[in-house]
Amino acid sequence: MSGSAPRAPKFPLRLDQMTAPARLPAAAPRKPIAKTVVKPALARTLVANQRPVLRPQAHVQHAHTEATRRVAPSGLGLDSADVRQRMVRRLHVAGLHADAVLDAMARVPRHLFIDPALVTQAYEDTSLPIGHGQTISKPSVVARMIELLLQGSNARAKGSLGRVLEVGTGCGYQAAVLSLMARQVISVERVRPLHDKARSMLDRLHVGPVRLVYGDGMLGHAPNAPYDSIIAAAGGDALPQAWLDQLALGGRLVSPMRQPGSAQQVLVVVDRTERGCVHSVHESVSFVPLKSGLVG
Ligand code: SAH
Repeated sequence: MSGSAPRAPKFPLRLDQMTAPARLPAAAPRKPIAKTVVKPALARTLVANQRPVLRPQAHVQHAHTEATRRVAPSGLGLDSADVRQRMVRRLHVAGLHADAVLDAMARVPRHLFIDPALVTQAYEDTSLPIGHGQTISKPSVVARMIELLLQGSNARAKGSLGRVLEVGTGCGYQAAVLSLMARQVISVERVRPLHDKARSMLDRLHVGPVRLVYGDGMLGHAPNAPYDSIIAAAGGDALPQAWLDQLALGGRLVSPMRQPGSAQQVLVVVDRTERGCVHSVHESVSFVPLKSGLVG
């Protein structure tokens, strides 16, 4: 074997097999969002001076209002666009600045994806149980991962996430957000009741082009490959080979992955370039485990 290390590590990729760190296309490393502390007074000033009010698209607003009447307890004000605006402003203050992501998150009614008993927490920056031992990711993590995806080469060239594979549909919230920035979203879920529930909610909301697949996302979804963007909502010890195989040239993958010898997960980004895959490691995160096989 020659002295020079291969540029692309062999996959499935584990963190302890990663060689040189992180060639991150976007410039400066950022602090983990979870650790960002915003003083209330400063936050108020920034909120007052920042983003214009975003309005949901008419069809989303309509479907959402209708669905809200059926799902959310009355009098909570969760069907108001303002409550999402406030969440989006807090994300902006916390350092998440991609307009496309914030606009999409301002349009998707997160409370409709959440158990009615927990609905008052829908616009807090917290993960929440969605049944079957799974959770909906916290809004700042959804925003951060999609922001990373948008910095991929194809996404920057297209001004869109292009064709997206999401592993772990869960309740379908993130798939809905992704769909507003993508040509097509294929979202795979291994737990049938979650898949079914997400399907009925997304059917009602009429968001962007999403195709929900009941299957083992560790295999990706070959029929629609290659993908410009791959995002995983569950983390294992390694990135499945199928994900790398199904990543388009110029595509980007964002996934949680466990650090070797520890329970700690980090966000890993992989870019497929002409010269192979280039990876970078980002902040610590906490996701449910990536599991193989199906739950019927
Ligand atoms: N994006 C989701 C987050 C769901 S939590 C949302 O917005 O709600 C992660 C999901 O990944 C869980 O529903 C879990 O069942 C699913 N998951 C874990 N391993 C998987 C696999 N191999 N294939 C498909 N889904 C998987």
